[in-house]
Amino acid sequence: MDRVKSALSPGLYLIATPIGSSRDITLRSLDILSLVDVLVAEDTRVLRKLLEIHGIQVGGRQLLSYHDHNSNRVSPQILAALKSGKSVAYASEAGTPMVADPGFNLARAAVAEGYKLVSAPGPCAAIAALTLSGLPTDRFFFQGFLPNAETRRKSVLRKLADVPGTLVFYESPRRVAAMLNDAVETLGADRDAAICREMTKRFEEIIQGELGDLLEQTRSRVFKGELVVLVGRGSPSKTGLEDVEAALDLALRECSVRDAVERVAGQTGTNRRQVYQLALEMTRDEP
Ligand code: SAM
Repeated sequence: MDRVKSALSPGLYLIATPIGSSRDITLRSLDILSLVDVLVAEDTRVLRKLLEIHGIQVGGRQLLSYHDHNSNRVSPQILAALKSGKSVAYASEAGTPMVADPGFNLARAAVAEGYKLVSAPGPCAAIAALTLSGLPTDRFFFQGFLPNAETRRKSVLRKLADVPGTLVFYESPRRVAAMLNDAVETLGADRDAAICREMTKRFEEIIQGELGDLLEQTRSRVFKGELVVLVGRGSPSKTGLEDVEAALDLALRECSVRDAVERVAGQTGTNRRQVYQLALEMTRDEP
């Protein structure tokens, strides 16, 4: 493929790469990848393969690996290239750099030193999943990966319960059953939800249902491959979380956890299980 050969102006070019289908890359990204002075990738083998598919030669250009574990060592090399007036392209393993991927510190350091930052937008699993999930896209909250530890995971989920928009999570197939279990406990079984797996790949599948249904499905099947889990917003509760906490605080001074939960769930119209989780958290925090 012929491309106009003209030098790119110096700066750090952030390139979004395919999340599955290798043709999901913009023409502009391909132009940048063929013209840039220095290539930087989270995984150099993945970038090499992508370049090969699209007929782009690395040639004599520098190809550096930059990831979470070597960023301290490689970042100065990249900044030195920028300082000498070179153009540098950075691509993470898949999708958009910095979205649950490395690149943030590098971009920040480049900006702090006055270098130009250029975005070459393209695929992002969160956005692709939103468009496929059947859930509202007018407002959404991107959580990315939840913590591994169950207690912390539930605590984060609980804080998301009142977010007035679709929740977007990145998940691993190994952990999705545990995550759905915690989501049912903290957000309720009846929220609309979806799992978007292997998007743009051969075994792409979109599974829609209530959170409880999705959890049930994990008992009889394994969701393999790459997954995005989305959860629709809850029906607006009669009372906000802060009010539930205040009511619980009062009730816990006067009665047992069990009675306090009954009272507050009734008073506020909030799911009993959610109030119970909150009560456990509040009593656990006490010295
Ligand atoms: N930077 C990427 C982006 O822009 O979406 C995300 C990188 S993150 C390390 C990888 C996670 O994204 C996977 O664990 C999965 O949750 C999600 N993901 C990436 N590709 C996917 C695909 N083809 N189908 C479903 N989920 C995908």
